[in-house]
Amino acid sequence: MEKKLNKIIENNKDLTLEGEVATYIPELGKANAKDLGICIADMEGNIYKAGDYNKKFTIQSISKTISLMMALMDNGKEIVFDKVGMEPTGDAFNSIIKLETIMPSRPLNPMINAGAIVVSSLIKGKDKEEKFNRLLSFMKKISENDNLEIDNEVYLSEKKTGHRNRAMAYFMKDVGIIEGDIEDILDVYFKQCSIKVDCVDLAKMGLFLANQGILPSTGQKLVSEDISRIVKTFMVTCGMYNGSGEFAIKVGIPAKSGVGGGIMASIPHRMGIATFGPSLDDKGNSIGGYKALYELSKELNLSIF
Ligand code: GLU
Repeated sequence: MEKKLNKIIENNKDLTLEGEVATYIPELGKANAKDLGICIADMEGNIYKAGDYNKKFTIQSISKTISLMMALMDNGKEIVFDKVGMEPTGDAFNSIIKLETIMPSRPLNPMINAGAIVVSSLIKGKDKEEKFNRLLSFMKKISENDNLEIDNEVYLSEKKTGHRNRAMAYFMKDVGIIEGDIEDILDVYFKQCSIKVDCVDLAKMGLFLANQGILPSTGQKLVSEDISRIVKTFMVTCGMYNGSGEFAIKVGIPAKSGVGGGIMASIPHRMGIATFGPSLDDKGNSIGGYKALYELSKELNLSIF
């Protein structure tokens, strides 16, 4: 298997030159555009890896899948989906436009920034520290990595420049979708996006979802099958930004990408896969990671459709 993965990395190394590293969060601009890594974690406990699989990067939007699991566990489906919808947008992840044009005003899904900020506001805890720490502990459990921590530079960089996210959050407070202190809610959101991971961490999180919310190594059930199903479904319909439809047709697997260059994929009952390549296409998806998943899906017959 590692031979296959090495070949896939080799095939796509040069493709990274065709994309661009995200710079709207200034600190992300320091990433090495040529990095490309991949990891598979399967149900039997095997870990296969290639390329820059052990480089650390910030999880960014991929954290939206984890915060959604927590918000659903904390509040139940009714409360969460009263405040955030279930439909793809066709717009960019940080788009504001539909917030005002759709009535009742609520973000269309939990994978776009507006929806994810609402989701973070629903995580329970007595203050922002407790909320974030609960989320971090949950991530440590499902990645089986006790050393996860935030990248402080990326966190501060986004906190300083996240004006668009701030604008959305204040708008949603105005229309009554969000309750509570906006700066505190954004703090949880910016921190969750700044958690540092590598491909092994993400592949294990993908595996946890593939195994219906049960940690394969211990058999411990941490999330209901229903919640795990909901999250994977959002990954199919909205996980690859406004390129999700094309990805579903070409690659056919539940996946969530982040502007830090990561993609976490989950093949039900089979495996978790992660890729890392900070050079992004025009939709914000890792250009090398996307193509690597495309090739792997063909090679291993992974499409769920
Ligand atoms: N922290 C990023 C933001 O809010 C996450 C975006 C992403 O990865 O799609 O802009």
